[in-house]
Amino acid sequence: MKIIVLKFGGSSVGNIKRIKKVANIIVSYKKKGYSPIVVSSAMSGTTNELIKKSKVITNNFTSSEYDVLVSSGEQIACSLIAGRLNDIGYKSRSWMGWQVPIFTEGAHSSSRITYIDKKKIMDYLRHGGIPVIAGFQGINSDDRLTTLGRGGSDASAIMCSKFFKAKRCIIYTDVDGVYTTDPNTFKRAKKIKVISYEEMLEMASLGAKVMQPTSIQDARLNRIDIEVKSSFVKKDGTKITKRKNVIANKIIRGISFTKNDAKLTLLGVKDKPGIAASIFKPLSYNAINVDMVVQNISADGKTTDLTFTIKSDDLIKTQRLIRKNSKISFRDLIVDKNVSKISIIGVGMIATPGVTYRMFQALAKKNINILVISTSEIKISVLINKKNIKKAIIALHKEFKLNK
Ligand code: ASP
Ligand code: MG
Repeated sequence: MKIIVLKFGGSSVGNIKRIKKVANIIVSYKKKGYSPIVVSSAMSGTTNELIKKSKVITNNFTSSEYDVLVSSGEQIACSLIAGRLNDIGYKSRSWMGWQVPIFTEGAHSSSRITYIDKKKIMDYLRHGGIPVIAGFQGINSDDRLTTLGRGGSDASAIMCSKFFKAKRCIIYTDVDGVYTTDPNTFKRAKKIKVISYEEMLEMASLGAKVMQPTSIQDARLNRIDIEVKSSFVKKDGTKITKRKNVIANKIIRGISFTKNDAKLTLLGVKDKPGIAASIFKPLSYNAINVDMVVQNISADGKTTDLTFTIKSDDLIKTQRLIRKNSKISFRDLIVDKNVSKISIIGVGMIATPGVTYRMFQALAKKNINILVISTSEIKISVLINKKNIKKAIIALHKEFKLNK
């Protein structure tokens, strides 16, 4: 049996017209000799509506009941798909997480799939049926409904691919793939044909709209190739796969950037062990995510300057925490709200010298000042003034020949 997992996102099942289109896509695979397992999300907007309803009751909605509520949107979408398939002459039925069953672990609203019982679905497939499984949901060891975090039907699809040993896993969405950079910001961004899990995760600031990041981790750990495609237009999508399947002709795969960073600099902090820890401790206790950090070498051996970045939303809270922190002393606190982080990403840079130089040189030629630098194995990020972001994208896109 050639099992294929077909996952449809909210906009792909957003209305009845779209659901009919989805049914046709499913049938096309059936006709090609595949045994499709369909995984569906809720119709777009439904989950948000349900969350809103819970908030009207209370901001403290019991977590187990919250999952019962917010997982209900998938039930609607699945029955509509199965109903349509029946109507055009195909054997199909919906399966809620508990009916499969799909077992999960962890806290409500952020559970993870640990095991999927294959038996009933396999029987159904053998009898020519098309199962339509509700994404985003499962049950825990107490038989309570659980959900997998926002966008979690991607994780359902990946784990179905794993447990049913699917030959292919296609994620149908409203974009036709992953691009070298945000196509809304830079019109000449190009669709990426193949990308590694690692690159895809690093592109999260762009890719998040495409797939739930934890589901990409699930795919990476289980070596499941993912095809991302549009259910709206018939076009080749992007394949997400393991590193060694990604042809090494491209050093850089894509450019990602942020729009809402803030930079803080503490001038004249004491240069002694434990100071950085004292600065960041209250931030971490308050769930403030610190991104880039640089500490200058102290000229006099006594004091130094420390710069770091955070999300702009956390700026006021961070400033307050720093000013009331009695464990540290500093001469001045300088804040810059107009910064953006721009990153070049690519597994090719591991084996290629000179990438950092080329990035800096390309920015220098455009007179773009670099404020902070950070690197990982497959990514180089620089902090620049927000007003230069477009200029920087164009320069880097050209330098690394991302249009080719
Ligand atoms: N319907 C859920 C959500 O909106 C799950 C999903 O879309 O993947 O988060
Ligand atoms: Mg979604």
